[in-house]
Amino acid sequence: MKKIKLLLISLILFSTSLCAEIINVTILGSGNPRPHVNKYGPSILVKTNEYNLIFDVGRATLIRLKQVGLNVSDIDKIFISHMHFDHIVGLPDVWLTAKLWQKESLNVYGPKGLKKFCSDMIELYKIDARYRNKGNLSLKCNEDLHNVELKEDLIVKRFSVNHGHVRNAYGYEIIHKGKKIVYSGDTSISDNLIERAKGADVLIHEIIYAPDDFIEKNKRFQKVYKSHTNVEQIIKILNITKPKLAVITHDLIFFESPKNILKMIKDKYNGEIIFAEDLTSFDIGNTINKFNYESYR
Ligand SMILES: [Zn+2]
Ligand SMILES: [Zn+2]
Repeated sequence: MKKIKLLLISLILFSTSLCAEIINVTILGSGNPRPHVNKYGPSILVKTNEYNLIFDVGRATLIRLKQVGLNVSDIDKIFISHMHFDHIVGLPDVWLTAKLWQKESLNVYGPKGLKKFCSDMIELYKIDARYRNKGNLSLKCNEDLHNVELKEDLIVKRFSVNHGHVRNAYGYEIIHKGKKIVYSGDTSISDNLIERAKGADVLIHEIIYAPDDFIEKNKRFQKVYKSHTNVEQIIKILNITKPKLAVITHDLIFFESPKNILKMIKDKYNGEIIFAEDLTSFDIGNTINKFNYESYR
């Protein structure tokens, strides 16, 4: 009898783990404004059974998307963290390619300035439109929506962060059937982010590092340094929020290796943490399974 009971329990556990819906997150671009062969511009794909959401559209987002087996027509919604060029430079590419694919609509959410960017983009590419604008793509650029509620218990919430001189810089919180992913965008240490990231399954956070003597000598860099999150701040954020997995991306690391920075963080933080590469991916279910699409090629 005891054996049958045990068998039944394990069968139930096995079937629930099979049924639990997995949310997949892929870092499409782990880079920053500096061109890099292996690290393209900031962009994150969040994939559920029904939706493909993109957060930031950096350099060559569509190329990385293709590498995970998706086309522009598969994008459901785009969310922009702020209007620095490294986070939006791929948007004209997405929009123009979407027209070529005869996609019907493209919804983009982001900060103040996005609407003007979208209308200027249409103006900028009007010669191309004269030649081949056969589709009827409806481009909707929304600045005002703080929470975007989608089907199947999927909510995207934006929150303000501290990105130096940038007035409207946001992070995003994605909640899906009890799972929570938080993306910092570009920011220095932010109370809002800390509040949102408490209890997150995955926290995707930016970082900056440079040696003290370099910072002291370089006035212009001091401004940049203050508008991003340094190593001590990252350690503080992680020790307060304790995400199941911390993923460092958009690394602005000067005169040091990411490996050593990771070691510095791990000396003072016990949780799981990795530096993202392009196409680093996580399946978030009952556990978090990490892999990289590159290694499957
Ligand atoms: Zn940036
Ligand atoms: Zn920025």
